[in-house]
Amino acid sequence: MVVGDFANEVDVLVVGGGPGGYVAAIRAAQLGRKVTLVDKGELGGVCLNRGCIPSKALITAAERVQQIKEADRMGIRVNGDIAVDLPELMNWKDGVVKKLTGGVGTLLKGNKVDVIKGEAYFSGPDTVRIATEKDSQTYQFKDCIIATGSRPVELPSLPFDGKRILSSTEILSLQELPKRLLVVGGGYIGLELGTAYRKLGSEVTILEGTDSLLPGVDPSLVRMVTRKLKKLGVTVVTGAMVQGGESSEDEVRVTAQVKGEEKTYAADVVLVAVGRKPNTDELGLEQVGIQLDERGFIKVDKQLRTSVPHIYAIGDVAGGALLAHKASYEGKVAAEVIAGMPSEVDVRAMPFVIFSDPEIAYTGLTEQEAKEKGYDPVVSRFAFQANGRALTMDSADGFAQVVADKESKQILGVQIVGPEASTLISEAVLAIEMGANAEDVSLSVHAHPTLPEAVMEAAEGVLGQAIHMVKK
Ligand SMILES: Cc1cc2nc3c(=O)[nH]c(=O)nc-3n(C[C@H](O)[C@H](O)[C@H](O)COP(=O)(O)OP(=O)(O)OC[C@H]3O[C@@H](n4cnc5c(N)ncnc54)[C@H](O)[C@@H]3O)c2cc1C
Repeated sequence: MVVGDFANEVDVLVVGGGPGGYVAAIRAAQLGRKVTLVDKGELGGVCLNRGCIPSKALITAAERVQQIKEADRMGIRVNGDIAVDLPELMNWKDGVVKKLTGGVGTLLKGNKVDVIKGEAYFSGPDTVRIATEKDSQTYQFKDCIIATGSRPVELPSLPFDGKRILSSTEILSLQELPKRLLVVGGGYIGLELGTAYRKLGSEVTILEGTDSLLPGVDPSLVRMVTRKLKKLGVTVVTGAMVQGGESSEDEVRVTAQVKGEEKTYAADVVLVAVGRKPNTDELGLEQVGIQLDERGFIKVDKQLRTSVPHIYAIGDVAGGALLAHKASYEGKVAAEVIAGMPSEVDVRAMPFVIFSDPEIAYTGLTEQEAKEKGYDPVVSRFAFQANGRALTMDSADGFAQVVADKESKQILGVQIVGPEASTLISEAVLAIEMGANAEDVSLSVHAHPTLPEAVMEAAEGVLGQAIHMVKK
């Protein structure tokens, strides 16, 4: 410490203002702690500024274009071209982001959380050095929550250049629609953004290294999406290992080994979406002795404590599912533990959502996982083709599927591919968390005509009594 530089004392210091950090700060403040939150960037973190929110805004706009194109089926004639003014679209999206990040600031202020814009660096087990634009000061904390999130993984053979070789951040703010977009990585980020740009008018090719899109997701759900991508005119190349690429004045060329053969793909822009890595490297964690796992994520226990007990880690930086709602949930748990409550991470049904077309959402166990856990599962699938609301929405591809224990009929997992799967999954999460069985869901009256009726009928199917599905 520099002479004359007295440490500022704080109760709870939260490092990072993303969905993990800001939620943790608010919850800790609700519980009576004096909280300081530091973020080097904008409040809201990746999710609000360059993740969930901007990508969903873009997906909505692209889907609107698609619906106009397909309105003809309903006898709605749209004469003339559909023009997409990309800078204006991006302005609208930025407005949505601004409204939400502004809201986070207001909430933090309303909860009397001190917010500092600066970069935090651990200088000891209970001190952090915060460098702001104008100075650098030491803060001494009683408890600290690390919520520094993650960033895109760069391919050394295809490094980001901000012009033609882009990460998800830049692709979310393009001012000009690329004629040809190449997406490296068929995970959810590449798939969501590739589909959106296709609907906005780009020619899109997705290169995926494994032999299927969305590796790790139930293939029966993925199949529906792959079929739709084909219909939309997206080229999907699986088994494609990217070797490298080169940019010139007017294009970028990427080479890949595709099933033993070298192929070259030319495009205006390449989106590299091959994964994310934790922001642990520039934090001074080594000064404190905080342990990382073999992939660089901070190791935590069920109470989100790191190997240094009064320092907690939540969200992307703590590994597991890199999802905003998981980060926020952990933020609440960590804040409660700090306040002396007996909280711990205890999730039976984490929802996973992919905003593809159609949407995919799942929670709990798949049939396979249920078997591995020693259950004797029964699976019931209800197709949206037999759901009145889906047909009236002109969006009836897909199904809702319930995995239940054969004997007790307890619901173990739900998988949905279809319209509004992202919304429908919430009922499944509640059902599983409440220990509901198929009868509980089937006896709950679902409004008609609505999409959730498909989940109800899948549950009825477990009992062998679905009305709009003939028993096989
Ligand atoms: C394109 C895209 C789409 C996504 N879509 C979804 C989705 O639909 N649903 C979903 O659940 N998830 C989605 N995600 C993932 C989601 O954004 C993350 O899981 C979530 O943001 C993690 O929250 P976090 O609080 O852990 O960290 P982050 O949101 O990454 O926030 C970390 C914060 O810490 C700050 N920080 C880092 N280091 C320091 C330091 N040394 N000092 C001070 N501040 C620091 C950063 O500035 C940042 O604001 C998406 C991600 C991407 C990239």
